[in-house]
Amino acid sequence: MLSYQHIYHAGNLADVQKHALLCAMLEYLTRKDKPLSYLETHAGRGLYQLDAPEAVKTGEAAAGIDLIRARGLLPDDHPYLAALARVRAVHGERAYPGSPLLAAECLRPQDRITLAELHPQENAALEYAMSATQARVFKQDGFAMAQAQTPPQPRRGVLLIDPSYEVKDDYDAIPKVIAKLHRKWNVGVIALWYPLLTSGLHGQMLAELEAQNLPKTLRHEVKFPPARDGHRMIGSGMFIVNAPYGLEDEAARLTKVFKAI
Ligand code: SAM
Repeated sequence: MLSYQHIYHAGNLADVQKHALLCAMLEYLTRKDKPLSYLETHAGRGLYQLDAPEAVKTGEAAAGIDLIRARGLLPDDHPYLAALARVRAVHGERAYPGSPLLAAECLRPQDRITLAELHPQENAALEYAMSATQARVFKQDGFAMAQAQTPPQPRRGVLLIDPSYEVKDDYDAIPKVIAKLHRKWNVGVIALWYPLLTSGLHGQMLAELEAQNLPKTLRHEVKFPPARDGHRMIGSGMFIVNAPYGLEDEAARLTKVFKAI
């Protein structure tokens, strides 16, 4: 039974880190004419409204994307803020695109988008949010989708793995999943998002990922104040295999942004 709903967290500081790195990667990869594949295992509903009661209740977007914009911590021409502005021009000032819609904004008609979202309502909302794009949406376990769809055609591309970690086994399974996907798709950029937890639960997963000596890895972590007193998440991380050239500079820029918060 899935209970996680990203509307409570959309636009929070973890989203800012993940979405800024994702858009920077796609901006870089689309500089070449060659087409790309974009795949996502845990897509969410694709489009959120930050004035929805769920988002207002937690206030996470107010302390996230709203604060970043109010304080001008990222330039307006950053690919993430530029994509956000395009989505808001169509869907309203409080709209917030999830990673699938941000990816669609950064990609071109010749690129392919393949998404999995298992939750029935989130999946239906995702279908609707992506209906004007070239995306294929599966109501399937994201890891199974990734195994079935890799290596993708075209082979150049990015896979985002952004689980809700509701299933604690995810921390054990993910290093094996990534190793297997990399063996099948050795040129693919594989990007994993994970929370930094007070319990340190993510630590063993990262140690296992590091021990695999995968090529061109980038590990980027930012710390931020917990969303509420006692909240276990105190930051977020991205572990990227085959990280595109120049992404380290973007990561360093984001580190400075988060230190200024
Ligand atoms: N990637 C999205 C973004 O950045 O906008 C947010 C995704 S949210 C963190 C995780 C999503 O995974 C939830 O919508 C949840 O319903 C979905 N989910 C949970 N288990 C899943 C599974 N086994 N396969 C596919 N989706 C799953």
